[in-house]
Amino acid sequence: MDCKNAQTLIAGYLDRELDPVRTLEIEDHLHGCAVCSQSYKDHQVLNEGLRTGSVYFKAPADLEKRIQRAVRQAAKAESAPRWLSWSWVKMAAPLAAAMLVLLTLVPFFRGSSTEDILTREVVSSHVRSLMANHLADVTSSDQHTVKPWFNGKVDFSPPVVDLASRGFPLVGGRLDYVNNRSVAALVYQQRKHSINLFIWPSPGSPDHPAQQLSINGYNIIHWTRSGASCWAVSDVNSADLSEFANLASR
Ligand SMILES: [Zn+2]
Repeated sequence: MDCKNAQTLIAGYLDRELDPVRTLEIEDHLHGCAVCSQSYKDHQVLNEGLRTGSVYFKAPADLEKRIQRAVRQAAKAESAPRWLSWSWVKMAAPLAAAMLVLLTLVPFFRGSSTEDILTREVVSSHVRSLMANHLADVTSSDQHTVKPWFNGKVDFSPPVVDLASRGFPLVGGRLDYVNNRSVAALVYQQRKHSINLFIWPSPGSPDHPAQQLSINGYNIIHWTRSGASCWAVSDVNSADLSEFANLASR
């Protein structure tokens, strides 16, 4: 494992999210590399700080009022041509800096959103399916075999398309458990890489365009279409996964 990989995986290692093979690899690297081992220690300190709440700061009670006042004055100043007057810059600059700090820190302290949790869940399921060598319950490249296989196993009929002609052959399907429910996992291949496409119904959810994420070296794309929530996970590069998602979400 090189430093670049190690740096990407340190957070996952700290949270004990890595599979045993990667855990051994990163431990090996940390023993031999002073730079990465220092950055591991830094992560530990930060984690500890977040856990004990010692890095939380309470916003001053009058901050909201000060920001509102600054915005009002800015609006007033803008209607007059003197909006760049020096006194306004002097007053607004520290406030702008404070807001920037707040905006940077807020996502950091917000905790795990549903999306974060689901992202971790689908990545774990993906890794598990590869580790346990249990990619497919039904092995077939025929969408007319894979789709009906889910009858009676899940309470919806997942859309199954064959993308072999576009470089993503269908390999099979599997029953999986994500988001506290049984979900359909469709398995595709790109060269030697496996792609898991998790699908479950989310009735009433509006269509949601594809959104791309990445954790621990895995790429994830999720979208909602026609009341179905879809999550594609793989270690293929993000451009290829993006192409896959485009084709699969048609
Ligand atoms: Zn290193």
